[in-house]
Amino acid sequence: MAALTCPLGPHVLGVRDVEGHVGHCCSACGGAWLPGSFLATIGQSRNFSAQRFAEMLRTLPARHTQLPCPQGCGELFCSEVKGVALDWCPACGGVWFDRGEVARLLAQYPRLAQAKKGGDGPDLSDVADIADALFSLLDIF
Ligand SMILES: [Zn+2]
Ligand SMILES: [Zn+2]
Repeated sequence: MAALTCPLGPHVLGVRDVEGHVGHCCSACGGAWLPGSFLATIGQSRNFSAQRFAEMLRTLPARHTQLPCPQGCGELFCSEVKGVALDWCPACGGVWFDRGEVARLLAQYPRLAQAKKGGDGPDLSDVADIADALFSLLDIF
């Protein structure tokens, strides 16, 4: 796969492979892109439906953003999920989390931060943490 570019700037996203799930993190701004394929593969190992998640996003009010999809589909949409603004692509199903959004997600679920062994807090660039926050978010729907 060709390197993806951060929607927030000319940053090349680094590939993170966590438990077989491939996500893309921006070391420049701390954001993370979870492609539709990432969300789909989660469903193979956890009780998670990428389709249900996509349908949930589509039912929420969405506004256009100026942010380009890293995979070249066009502009991302933005929807608010539990007070957290998620930028997502209606074409490929990917979801972008900026650094602040990830922090806000994790702040709502301190259990996740406590579950990490050692360290002073969650590693916000860790795709696994983002995915866990996502699951927690979905649990309440
Ligand atoms: Zn970036
Ligand atoms: Zn896309």
